[in-house]
Amino acid sequence: LAGPDADNVRLVPPPRADDAPHPMHIESLRRRLRAAGAMPLHEQRVLRDWLQRRSRDAGRRRADDFLPKPLREALPAIDAELDGLARLVSTHPTDGGSARLLVALADGQTVESVLLPRGGLCVSSQVGCAVGCQFCMTGRSGLIRQLTGGEIAAQVVLARSLRAVKKVVFMGMGEPAHNLDHVLDAIELLGTEGNIGHKSLVFSTVGDRRAFERLPLGPVKPALALSLHTTKPALRDILLPRAPRITPAELVALGEQYARATHYPVQYQWTLLEGINDGEDELDGIVDLLRGKFAVLNMIPWNSIPDLQFRRPSWERAREIARTLHRRGVLTKLRDSAGQEVDGGCGQLRARALAAGEK
Ligand code: SF4
Repeated sequence: LAGPDADNVRLVPPPRADDAPHPMHIESLRRRLRAAGAMPLHEQRVLRDWLQRRSRDAGRRRADDFLPKPLREALPAIDAELDGLARLVSTHPTDGGSARLLVALADGQTVESVLLPRGGLCVSSQVGCAVGCQFCMTGRSGLIRQLTGGEIAAQVVLARSLRAVKKVVFMGMGEPAHNLDHVLDAIELLGTEGNIGHKSLVFSTVGDRRAFERLPLGPVKPALALSLHTTKPALRDILLPRAPRITPAELVALGEQYARATHYPVQYQWTLLEGINDGEDELDGIVDLLRGKFAVLNMIPWNSIPDLQFRRPSWERAREIARTLHRRGVLTKLRDSAGQEVDGGCGQLRARALAAGEK
């Protein structure tokens, strides 16, 4: 394993609402609607139609009987732009009712979304990622660009063209805390006009203090998933080389504070790597950190990636670990990364498409 090679990553500033051209920024969309004469009720109606995919079915009714004329005239261009924010390139079903989607953005960059069982959807928040987790394909490319709130929400709209979406987890490509403004914009929009319950929006982070400061202040408070992966600070610095320098103990303390404030348990993510973080010492560390906490530990055996030196532990070993932790007082769920609800599982479709020249 390589050692840590940087301190905290600096935030890449998101594009401003008045920058042009840019993929749809939620505030610039709202501004355009208002400039076309939309009152708050009209604005809400247009956003709901988009997010809940009612525009095509109800477009004629909407245009005819409710909206002011300048807005009706502006809508075809706005609808076309919204449609172009996220387009389906290919669908890749996996076992267990999941499907990975390769999604093209308006500038031709691609990200991945994953349809999860029971109406879940995993969305990407960045093209690439700066954190550089050693076990993750996305981390290998570095950060290419931020997604806007509109592009994040558009992944939900696209998925809804395939089936219902009731839960959105921000665990796809990218570190949401490094694109905080746009991710929080998307969360607010989905939690208000997108018909998704607040607890069914899951903000995931490797543990950035800025996220802990901002999340409790928003009008929509999402559930929280935190990437733990090890209880050892030095190993964490190696596995997550450009994550903020935060110890596992501090991460859990901040998570617990948020869980108690919101009354939702925190989901701790643990990618199981054979011989790295599956030993008895780590299990003792997990019990010390998480027993008695308002938390669920999601253990996910690593999803093999060619050229990376990690190994996936056997399913029997993973089951034994989960059982042991459960017995010792830590609520533990063993998940299969085929469902991709997992850090580090993303990025392979995009990498394959790039290699094949699809972009
Ligand atoms: Fe980024 Fe998540 Fe991959 Fe880590 S696991 S490099 S945070 S996308």
